Amino acid sequence: MAIKDNNVSMNLFRDKCKEHNLRITPQRTVIYKELHKSKDHPSADAIFRKARKVFPNISFDTVNRTVLTFAKIGLVNVVEGCGGPKRFDSDTESHHHLRCIKCNRIIDFHNKDYDSMEIPDEIKNKFTVLRKRVCIEGVCSKCR
Ligand SMILES: [Zn+2]
Ligand SMILES: [Zn+2]
Repeated sequence: MAIKDNNVSMNLFRDKCKEHNLRITPQRTVIYKELHKSKDHPSADAIFRKARKVFPNISFDTVNRTVLTFAKIGLVNVVEGCGGPKRFDSDTESHHHLRCIKCNRIIDFHNKDYDSMEIPDEIKNKFTVLRKRVCIEGVCSKCR
C-alpha cells in the first residue's frame, strides 16, 4: 500500500514538473520525497535538514525556493494561518487539520461532513473557491 502510494506520488511529481517545464533534478526529487514522507506538515527548514543528509552542500535557499515552487505548481499546499515559518502539506487530497496552539503540531483528520460542506451563495458569487479546509485549534493530548 505504502509502496503504491509512493509510486502514485512520484508520478504526480513527474507530471507536474513536466507540465510546468521544471527540470527533474536529483535535488528536487529528494526534496519532494522528503515532503511526501513527512506527515507532520514540515517547514522548509525541516526539509532542509533532511535534504542536507543526502546533499551536504545544498543551501537552505535552494530548498526553500524549491518548496515554494512546488507550492506554486500545486504539488504541495501551504498550511495557512499557523504563524511563524510557512508549513507545507504534500497531501493535496481533501482533509482537515487540528492544530495544537502549544507545540504547533498539525494533525490531519478526515470528516465526510466537512468535505461536503456547502459554500454559501454570497461567497460563491464574489469568490472562486479552490479549496476548503476546516482547521480546529486547541491543545493536543501530549501538551494537555
Ligand atoms: Zn501540542
Ligand atoms: Zn494536512
